[in-house]
Parts: sequence; C-alpha cells; structure tokens
Amino acid sequence: MPQAFSNRRFHLLNPAIEFLPSVVLRGVRHSNLHYAVEMVRNNIEAYLHQLQQALPYVPPIPVEALYSLHIAQDYEGMVQLIKNTMNIDVCLRVGWVNSGGRDAPAWIELPPNMPFYGSSAFREMTITMFIRRSFLEQSTYDQAAIVVAHELSHIVLDSIGHPLRREEKAVDLTAMLLGFCALYASGCYREETSQNGTSIRTLGYLSQEEVELANQILAQRQSGTKTKAALLSHALRGIRARICVRSSGS
Ligand SMILES: [Zn+2]
Repeated sequence: MPQAFSNRRFHLLNPAIEFLPSVVLRGVRHSNLHYAVEMVRNNIEAYLHQLQQALPYVPPIPVEALYSLHIAQDYEGMVQLIKNTMNIDVCLRVGWVNSGGRDAPAWIELPPNMPFYGSSAFREMTITMFIRRSFLEQSTYDQAAIVVAHELSHIVLDSIGHPLRREEKAVDLTAMLLGFCALYASGCYREETSQNGTSIRTLGYLSQEEVELANQILAQRQSGTKTKAALLSHALRGIRARICVRSSGS
C-alpha cells in the first residue's frame, strides 16, 4: 500500500487557498475564490456522506488514556487502544522501524484479496503495520494517534470494499468518523518556530481547512440528528398522553 502520510515542511502559505486543488486554483480570480471554496466543501460533504452510509458511529477515543500511553512511551499500548476503539478485529503485527524503509512515518501491508470485515477469515488474518519509532518519539500524542488511525482506516475501507478506499482524503475522513475528529483538528497541522523561521508540519492528506470543514459538517449533522430525535420523542410523548386521556375517559 502506498505510504499514508508525509511528514513535510512548508513555508507558510496563504491558509485560505492552500487547500484548494491546483486544477481549481489555476486561473482563479479573487471573485471566484468563494466558488472554489464551495467546491471543496461539496467534495468533503460528498465523501462524508458516502462514508457514513457504510461506517458506524464511533464515540471519540479516550484522549487521557492515549496521552498517558504516549507519555509512558507505550506505543504498543497506543496501537492496541486505537485498534480496539476502531473495532478492528484482526491480528495486527507492528513492525517497529528504527531506520530505512519507506519515506513515511508509517505504512501498512494489505493482502491483495482482503477478506470481508467481520468474517472469520478477516479475524484470523495477520496484518503488518510499520511505524517509525523516531516519529512517535518526536510527535505529540495526537499526531502519533492520527497516523496510526489513518493506517488502520485502510483496513476498514478495504475490508468493506468501499469505492473510496483508494482515495487518501477519504481514508483520513474515515479515521475522523471512527473517533479521531478532535485529534485530527489538533494534530494534523502545527506551526513550528526555529532559528530558520516558521515552518508548518502537516500530517495526512487533508488540509487544516478541510479538517475544520469536516468537523463543522459532522457537528451540524449530529446536532440535526439530536434535533430529529428530540422532536420524535416529543411527538411520542404527545401521542402517549392522548392515548392515556382517551383510556381514562372511556
Ligand atoms: Zn494512506
């Protein structure tokens, strides 16, 4: 599987336009920027919609536990906690990389014919994920967690044969949907100041703005669901009350 994350440094770009695809930016005038931003929003919305059709709701991962494991340098424990949170019931072997390997902090090897999620063949399969130890040591707990969650999201999407399984942005959005929204928000983009000036460390394939957009969309959908549930509950209470009145009157 191609490497999932690049650990890159960029000079500070205009954050308002940094995330726009080059094909969109080419020839874009300022007056068209709003249209281009809307296009990106629509893409993120469409990806989230497609993913939510297939993925369950997963509550946020307990960050205190993750933080403690990272401080204790218990990286194996972190991987286990993330795997359990995402409900991935495979035998996962971790290859700890000290040097060499791919030019990435982590990568995963998937079988060409992935068994279906939850099947006995899936549960009996062993998958190897490689993680660069120096990356974990030099990262904060949220950065370490989202790299692992991204790699494990490849297993999820491949095992359900999702049409977006080869779209790396969709893989990041899958990890967000499976409990890592807040950690993406805090860890995917960080400004670092050194003697050479300010640089930006990014993780994953979504820009900071795309992560913020995804979080906004998910929050709106969740509050919409709660509103619908509250309205339904209110309506049911009204129906029950009317039935009681009729029963007592008859
Ligand atoms: Zn990937």
